[in-house]
Amino acid sequence: MNILIMGPAGVGKGTVSQSIVETFHVAHISTGDMFRNAIKNNTQLGMEAKSYMEKGLLVPDEITINMTKERIMQDDCAEGYLLDGFPRTLAQAAAFEDIAKETNRPIDVVIDLTISIDQLAERIVNREICKNCGEIYNTVSKPSAVKGICDKCGSPLVHRADDNLESLQVRLSEYDKLTAPVIDYFDAKGLVIKVNAGQSREAVWADVKQALEKFVND
Ligand SMILES: [Zn+2]
Repeated sequence: MNILIMGPAGVGKGTVSQSIVETFHVAHISTGDMFRNAIKNNTQLGMEAKSYMEKGLLVPDEITINMTKERIMQDDCAEGYLLDGFPRTLAQAAAFEDIAKETNRPIDVVIDLTISIDQLAERIVNREICKNCGEIYNTVSKPSAVKGICDKCGSPLVHRADDNLESLQVRLSEYDKLTAPVIDYFDAKGLVIKVNAGQSREAVWADVKQALEKFVND
């Protein structure tokens, strides 16, 4: 089963992805990791990507697409993969179609994690992050035992300056503008399953699991 997961930053995509990988034994392909590995292993595409990143430029689609193609052809993807962070635009989605034809490993199902701006705001505006270990807290739903101090390592917690309502609205509307055509593209093929990510973590996972199990059994 080849899965694409979509959802705005802060929606809980990381947690859901981890559970999908553990439960359905698919290879997790995150674009960020894919770039880091390609660069670390000095692959041709990795070197090309690095030259753009070093200049602070966006890596052109062609490089990302070819890198994804190389990645999904690897052995660990034979039983399925979970694609996370790509395709993000309609052009990338259409290009992925060609990869799928060449590799015979097309996307079978798209999990679209949806959330309202209000629910996302509640999570993000109240979010605190440990500068030292990266642990994430929420002053309402997951507070640290001692205010402003990380439970795990005792370092101070910080609130990101751009975790406010205004920048969140901008981020979300940019996300929607970019990805709505991607969702429509896959929806026209009947592949999209929308999951309400505004629920509790457990409820979100129950919905995702049920949807994927249904797909496996069909
Ligand atoms: Zn910490």
